[in-house]
Amino acid sequence: MKKIILLIILLSTQNITFANTQEGEQDHEHEHATPFTPEEEERYFEDMGRGFKRKSFPRTNWNECSDRRVTGNYLSYRCTRQRNISQILFTFMKKNFETCVDKAAKSNNWRMKDFHIIHKGIFGDARHSPRSLHSPGRAIDIAEIIVSTYGGNKKMNFRKYGNGEFFTAFRKCWGRAIISQNNCPAYRGQVQLTGSIGKEDRNHQKHLHVSVPYCVKGKHAGNYFWR
Ligand SMILES: [Zn+2]
Repeated sequence: MKKIILLIILLSTQNITFANTQEGEQDHEHEHATPFTPEEEERYFEDMGRGFKRKSFPRTNWNECSDRRVTGNYLSYRCTRQRNISQILFTFMKKNFETCVDKAAKSNNWRMKDFHIIHKGIFGDARHSPRSLHSPGRAIDIAEIIVSTYGGNKKMNFRKYGNGEFFTAFRKCWGRAIISQNNCPAYRGQVQLTGSIGKEDRNHQKHLHVSVPYCVKGKHAGNYFWR
């Protein structure tokens, strides 16, 4: 009897180890998904041509310079009127960014007038990292959020303030927006980790990865499709 119990314990431990290894590998894959630079992005979409308008990969243009809801620019570049972005991420940003930046501002007792995002890319190369949410343009890497308040402009650099109240409040708000869609599960049971990757990951010290996982208006897939 003792032997059987021991065997069961041994088997269940192995299962746990296996599950952890898989998760580790999936995380690993996220870490190596680097979005295009503006030049790479341009070349990629030129190569793709019209084929990219496929229904399974709906894409649109973000006018970073003068969109009514969200403005931004790629770090160290001027804003463009034609940033490639997935339809779903764009819709989600327009719907939730303002609310979430406002919540973040309130966590610092600021009254927000407007905001602007400095990012490090959206689309990534599907040939190199097909499992990353950058491949279908469903993720954006945010380096800084500039909040214009009644007390002047506040530059919230993620590298500097990533662990602070501001980004924590932003991530919780974004996570709640994701969970409210299609019964999306909270990543590891935590709202803050849902739809974003930040300082808790060693490869996300300089930017906040913000995504719309596949569970939103789609299928509930494996862990690596969650962020
Ligand atoms: Zn990312």
